[in-house]
Amino acid sequence: MLNFQKDVSLKNYSNMKIGGTAKFFVEIFSSDELVEAIKWAKKNNKKFFVLGLGANTVFSDSGFDGVVILQKNENFEIKDEIVFAESGVLMKNLIEKTLDSNLVGLEEFSGIPSTIGGASFINLHYYKTLFSDFLISAKIFDFEKEEIFEADLDWFEYGYEKSKLQTGNFILLSANLKLKKCSDEEKWFAKGKSFEIIRDRNFKYPLEPSVGSIFQNLPPSAKEFYGVPTLSAGFYIDSLGFKMKKVGGIQVSGRHANIFVNPKGEGTCKDLLELMEIVKVAVKEKFGIELVPEVRIVR
Ligand SMILES: Cc1cc2nc3c(=O)[nH]c(=O)nc-3n(C[C@H](O)[C@H](O)[C@H](O)COP(=O)(O)OP(=O)(O)OC[C@H]3O[C@@H](n4cnc5c(N)ncnc54)[C@H](O)[C@@H]3O)c2cc1C
Repeated sequence: MLNFQKDVSLKNYSNMKIGGTAKFFVEIFSSDELVEAIKWAKKNNKKFFVLGLGANTVFSDSGFDGVVILQKNENFEIKDEIVFAESGVLMKNLIEKTLDSNLVGLEEFSGIPSTIGGASFINLHYYKTLFSDFLISAKIFDFEKEEIFEADLDWFEYGYEKSKLQTGNFILLSANLKLKKCSDEEKWFAKGKSFEIIRDRNFKYPLEPSVGSIFQNLPPSAKEFYGVPTLSAGFYIDSLGFKMKKVGGIQVSGRHANIFVNPKGEGTCKDLLELMEIVKVAVKEKFGIELVPEVRIVR
């Protein structure tokens, strides 16, 4: 039985600690409950939003006039090299459990806050490693047709920060990933790498509330298109001296110019949008580059 709550503050469900209240809010603990919650929203003519850790999501200050569905469906199973994981499984837990089972690959994503749902939506990436390197198939709910079907990797049409899940009617219920079997020696090496990635990230990236990169890095084609030296969005923002630039409670991080932070938890979505606009306009004026937001603003 689903437990719908009313007027729940969304601040604590976005990693950036921003957002008004959700008219309806429900936690789901299985794929069946995820489908049931979406069907309930549809039946009651409410819009809905399927949420993971909120590490790439900011809700507007006026909140969400619909149903926010928080994924707590965290079942997973490891059989040989294949890992089955429901959409609410935390990447952090999966990295730990797969390494313990002598399976390597996911440790590249160490330190990135994500559920499997969020990772498959954006095609989680760290340097050259993409989530799509591991996904082999998935169970998808088409909420227009109210049908569940099996999708293979090709169905996702994955690219850099692109997937078919972003196109509207589809919610991932669970995914099957294929990892690489390894020896005990390789496992301990991978565990060490995981610690090292986390140490490096804690040093390079801010620890205050944020949603990671605010703008996408430029696609490889941008080098030719704009004739620019690097694809890093942070490089261009930094070149303009924006580190520590503040609007209200939101600030460009002093550690990484493409990460905006909410140090005291007092920033608003309005502050964030204003700061994004200032940066976007300045980068366009100086370099001719059109920055594309990576963060999802939900209104
Ligand atoms: C400090 C920090 C560092 C980060 N570093 C990186 C990095 O190195 N690389 C990187 O790629 N990202 C990075 N990010 C961004 C973020 O971690 C990823 O985008 C992550 O995948 C978000 O997962 P989530 O569960 O929080 O998704 P959410 O923010 O909760 O949701 C993101 C989107 O996915 C959709 N979604 C969620 N579940 C499903 C589902 N089951 N079916 C369909 N759609 C779904 C949501 O509706 C939403 O539109 C970073 C973020 C932070 C805060």
